[in-house]
Amino acid sequence: MTETVIEELTTPTLDDGDHDRFAHYVRKSDIVKANVEGVEVVALCGKKWIPNRDPAAYPVCPSCKDIMNAITGKG
Ligand SMILES: [Zn+2]
Repeated sequence: MTETVIEELTTPTLDDGDHDRFAHYVRKSDIVKANVEGVEVVALCGKKWIPNRDPAAYPVCPSCKDIMNAITGKG
């Protein structure tokens, strides 16, 4: 059994005018690493960015949501 830990929901760090404003699912280990090392995280959908925004204001990325549903068996 493969251990998959996906607990954190975070968002891209994009400037005003960018249409890709979604909250993406990211592995917690990636979040920790990003916080410590300042490196990019990789969302379930494959999006990469350096997190620094509050995720509360954004809808969940549809691609991430589909993948998360597949992983958790929900949906
Ligand atoms: Zn996504």
